[in-house]
Amino acid sequence: MEKMQKTAKTRVILHSDLDNFYASVEEKKRPGLKGRPLVVCGNKEDRHGVVLAKNAPAKRAGIKTGDVLWQAKKKCKNLIEVPADFSEYLRVSKRVRAIYERYTDRVEAFGIDECWLDVTASARLFGSGMHIAEGIRAAIAAEIGITASVGVSWNKIFAKLGSDIAKPDAAVEITPENFRQTVWPLPAENLLYVGKATKEKLSRRGIFTIGQIAAASESLLEKWLGKWGTYLYLFANGLDNTPVYKREEEQNIKSIGNSLTNYRDLKNEEEVRALVLLLADSVAARLRESPLGRANTVHVFATDAQLYRYAKQGRTPRPTKNAAEIADCAFSLFRKVYPWKAAVRGLGVSVSGFTYGQEQTSFDDLAGKNKADRVEETVDKLRAKYGHGVIQRAVILKDRRLASLDVKGEHVIHPEGYFGK
Ligand SMILES: [Mg+2]
Repeated sequence: MEKMQKTAKTRVILHSDLDNFYASVEEKKRPGLKGRPLVVCGNKEDRHGVVLAKNAPAKRAGIKTGDVLWQAKKKCKNLIEVPADFSEYLRVSKRVRAIYERYTDRVEAFGIDECWLDVTASARLFGSGMHIAEGIRAAIAAEIGITASVGVSWNKIFAKLGSDIAKPDAAVEITPENFRQTVWPLPAENLLYVGKATKEKLSRRGIFTIGQIAAASESLLEKWLGKWGTYLYLFANGLDNTPVYKREEEQNIKSIGNSLTNYRDLKNEEEVRALVLLLADSVAARLRESPLGRANTVHVFATDAQLYRYAKQGRTPRPTKNAAEIADCAFSLFRKVYPWKAAVRGLGVSVSGFTYGQEQTSFDDLAGKNKADRVEETVDKLRAKYGHGVIQRAVILKDRRLASLDVKGEHVIHPEGYFGK
């Protein structure tokens, strides 16, 4: 009985986002540079270095994540460039996580510098969500020497929006009383998972704000955006009840996958290859933003125009989170299993067999040991900033309709969250 009451209770969810994380860690290491424009780049010997992060003065100079170093230097003459030190970022990230875990064991990482916390059960011990948020921010400032922005709400989506609004160095609460005033006027693309293509689809229908998504008809949204439309409708109305996953639950996630159907029939291997790359790209991106490590198994499934289904799985040559490696494996599996009795109508790629917990330094390759992975990390960042369409593989660009697909918006995603099952 008590358990039932507990689950019915309104949740208290925090989303904590470390401000300019890489740049803040570098500033902290070099107190003399405080206040001067600074960017964090890939390895210094890499002459085509890309800006991975910038501090506030560099941002004011107009420097953007993803700028090539020479562009950045043009914008700002006295720019200081420092090489990325990913093992240090990982160490700091773990120390911050330990601070979160003083308040709750329900901590779910979203990338290296963001976490969701479910503090519903801790509120009796530690006070309100805002009180906990300020306690966490103070602890991070005092013990780590960097700042965090925290959003407080009753669901993960609004908590994340809250930290975006709060940024930098503040906390904001989004309540059932104020969300219409605070959240609804925001642009649609501020909602988590609304990428560039989804944004464009919505704006073509006169939907520009989160409030307009909330006011739209759920069935129309579903018609326009597929299953994804329903989720956006729920998110915009504060009806997201995705749980904050604990570490052990993250470990139990069996696979991450994406699929596309009802697009148009694919008639040859070249077209299949392009779609496999696109799917593998988004699977790898989700894998990298998860704490699951690498995957050692790839699954491919296809439906043909007569609705016959084909599926095959196989091991990758080595555990991977690299899109090209996942795609190569998926494509060779496809060639083995698909008899080409009809064109391909639906195609899916997923990965499983995660190395989570088996390797201590899953961010090693971020430090530059694996260049292909590093490039993809940067691609993730660019996409997060500019939408999925900003970078695409050459093979995908051959097919303009395919290139305009927003995989994040179109893929079949499980309601449980950004992890598949
Ligand atoms: Mg951040």
